[in-house]
Amino acid sequence: MKKSIRLFAVAATRTCHFYLHLYKRKLTLLILVFAFIGCSGPEAGVSFKLAQERREAISELGYRLFFNLPEDPKAPIQASQTIGFRLERPRLIILDFKEDPAAVALVQVNGRQAKYRIKNEHIVIPRRYFKKDTNTITIDFRAGEQSLNRNEEFLYTLLVPDRARTLFPCFDQPNLKASYTLTLELPVHWEAVSNTPPEQEVLSGAWAQTAYLTTAEEAPTGAGRKRITFCPTEPLSTYLFSFVAGKFQRMTETRNGRSISLYHRETDPQKIAQTGIIFDQVYASLEWMEEYTGIPYPFAKYDFIILPGFQYGGMEHTGATLYNDRRMFLGEHPTTGEQLSRMSLISHETAHMWFGDYVTMAWFDDVWTKEVFANYFAAQMIRPQFPEINHRLNDLRAFYATAYEVDRTAGTNAIKQSLDNLNKAGLIYGNIIYDKAPIVMNMLAEKLGQEAFHKGLRDYLHTYAYGNATWEDLISIL
Ligand SMILES: [Zn+2]
Repeated sequence: MKKSIRLFAVAATRTCHFYLHLYKRKLTLLILVFAFIGCSGPEAGVSFKLAQERREAISELGYRLFFNLPEDPKAPIQASQTIGFRLERPRLIILDFKEDPAAVALVQVNGRQAKYRIKNEHIVIPRRYFKKDTNTITIDFRAGEQSLNRNEEFLYTLLVPDRARTLFPCFDQPNLKASYTLTLELPVHWEAVSNTPPEQEVLSGAWAQTAYLTTAEEAPTGAGRKRITFCPTEPLSTYLFSFVAGKFQRMTETRNGRSISLYHRETDPQKIAQTGIIFDQVYASLEWMEEYTGIPYPFAKYDFIILPGFQYGGMEHTGATLYNDRRMFLGEHPTTGEQLSRMSLISHETAHMWFGDYVTMAWFDDVWTKEVFANYFAAQMIRPQFPEINHRLNDLRAFYATAYEVDRTAGTNAIKQSLDNLNKAGLIYGNIIYDKAPIVMNMLAEKLGQEAFHKGLRDYLHTYAYGNATWEDLISIL
């Protein structure tokens, strides 16, 4: 009995040791797994999964942004922001910020300082700081410069497709539209343009008259400075938020009660003389789109900036559309092709105000749905401006040749391409989107009949106004 009891005791002890050993190993494994998950954090860029989770959890989003722009293009840009949003329930919040972690100085959530982690181009803020309903995150930071295009006398933002996150912490995805209220501090002799008109302008020395919330905004600045606060924007995707600041000439035209300002840095009188025809084409394209869609221009204003050396032909920021100077200011004896190309570019960017800006793709895999309409309508808008041209022939030349150039190769791609992370969105653009897609759209319009196609597009714009839509959403209406 004793023996057996002893044997049992030994066996039990061994079993205990065995389980304890197993338990320790499992615990170590578990700790390692959690440590790995904790360290790895969200993947770099903006994954489709992260975007989907945020889209479901976050609503009523607004950004209040402040940038202090020094005249010296090498001096750092101090900035601050307050992001307001609503949550159905408290959760961990992941912001996108592709910048040196040292650029973030302070993070506060709902008025109290928060501990955060910076991992793989994200600011990760624990769930415990957030509550159901409305929340605010206030961040003091140094603005990222990758997409700021700073020059000696001017700078401009270009945040498409996923570069808003290089400038300021944000939820950088097209389907989290937000209202932006921007304040810029800048030299008093600089112009500043953003998506909306200025609401308030204050000269240095008079800061106390305005109520600013964050510490960066309270920092005293030298003389010869001013602060401009712009009106809150309509709901916009991050890639459409924009500002331009620096030394520019401003020209304003008013026609039928609508004022449009053009900003440029051109000095050649022969080129400046072309601003009349540029205004004609901007107004003509706006009126064409309003007539076709039945929707008056849906944003606060339609100013545009002609930039020396701008990297694209144009970029459709609402109220602050950017153009390349060489595409807008032509030589002394421009060819018909150059003139057509300018009108086509203006029409393309104007069409985007409705197709792209007013109704936006939910994810960049559908970027072609905005580019196809921009080119499809541009081809129609140039017709009345150039009645002497054989436009059928011109379309063949403009679209078919360039589309076949890619489509005949083994490396061609489908019009709609899958995209698992926004950091690859730049690879989607190309001849297939810009040139093959309008051919396909034309086929679709002919198949449906122009009248049904036209009515379908109007329904589509009304249904998804200031929101997002997918290709499937469009097709189900058409
Ligand atoms: Zn475009």
